Amino acid sequence: MAVPKKKVSKSRRNMRRSHHALKGSAYVECANCGELMRPHHVCGACGHYRKREVVTQSASA
Ligand SMILES: [Zn+2]
Repeated sequence: MAVPKKKVSKSRRNMRRSHHALKGSAYVECANCGELMRPHHVCGACGHYRKREVVTQSASA
């Protein structure tokens, strides 16, 4: 079984693990309603994606 040659310090270990959390949540404005939405996702407020409606909102809120 492979054994690490040098112990990785808490600092180096934590710096390595910190990378995937660097970027905050990515949001863009919806082209239809201006609501913040995730890129490449259907807008949660109006159901639009790429400037056309793909999900029809139900009448009940
Ligand atoms: Zn929208």
